[in-house]
Amino acid sequence: MVLDSSWWRHFWASPLLPKWKMFAWKIIHNALPSALLLARKGLPVESKCGFCHQEVETLSHLFRDCPFTWSLWEGQPCGSTLNISQDQSFEEWFPEVLSKFIHDKDWLMLDHFFSLLWALWLTRNSLRFRSTVYSPESILELASSWVDRCSEARSFRYDITLEFPPGFSGTMSSAVLRGNASDACTVSLTFDGAWSSDSHNAGTGWVFLDLVSDGHLGGGAQACSSNSVFQSELMACLFSLRHARQRGYSSLQILTDCSLVVDLLRSQVPKDIFVRWIQQELLELIGALVVCHVQKVPRSTVAQAHCLAGMTRRRNLLCFRF
Ligand SMILES: [Zn+2]
Repeated sequence: MVLDSSWWRHFWASPLLPKWKMFAWKIIHNALPSALLLARKGLPVESKCGFCHQEVETLSHLFRDCPFTWSLWEGQPCGSTLNISQDQSFEEWFPEVLSKFIHDKDWLMLDHFFSLLWALWLTRNSLRFRSTVYSPESILELASSWVDRCSEARSFRYDITLEFPPGFSGTMSSAVLRGNASDACTVSLTFDGAWSSDSHNAGTGWVFLDLVSDGHLGGGAQACSSNSVFQSELMACLFSLRHARQRGYSSLQILTDCSLVVDLLRSQVPKDIFVRWIQQELLELIGALVVCHVQKVPRSTVAQAHCLAGMTRRRNLLCFRF
């Protein structure tokens, strides 16, 4: 497999974390300081792999061929597609894996792939230079936390690449969706979504407040599954607006901590088709209201909804209206 300049251009343009791109570049150019590399430079290091203590630590051994590493790959979502065979050199195999996932636009699998490589590298470093304790579980946990970070970064960057009309750009922090700015809303709605990238379990929660008496009117929580943090946020908005319709609320102030939701409700067109479907129903629900204002608020304002969303994500609650 030849990695020519067009391959690299394609790779740099992919929606992977910049961190993964640099990491891949270093692996492909054998630029990570493996024990073999350090020993060849004359540095006094233990050349054996810190995990199995059997073989010389090369990148090939550390990231693929070590029995310890092998056992970790087996349990990974991307493990079954890796086609790990020692007949193929690591130099051939690694770009082939990357190319396959990039071709399939399987960014989540690439996140899993890089997160485990990264967790192995970090653990190897602390083991070698700080003699820290590790376990297969600690490495998998570290990898999983990186998958979470990637998903969060990507969902906010790509789920909703908005097409702004000419002359407009950026995010508005509030908008009048129905009625006039001078119309007073009678009910406020705060909602929030929660999401786990491991299980794709999502949770949603919302609370209605009477803006006249400042008293609680109720709310709800519902478990669901979604593909990103942002989708769970949208599901929360959808469930809560359906609930508002059932309650017969006609004058609603929507408070969200997610500025992308404000954009969506202002009819900006998302590129993601799934987001577009949800948006259609949201706009229909809002269209039936007499007055509706939406406003971006600090996270603390949606704290109660956030708490409900967390409970349904963890499946302590499945579906609840109050
Ligand atoms: Zn080893």
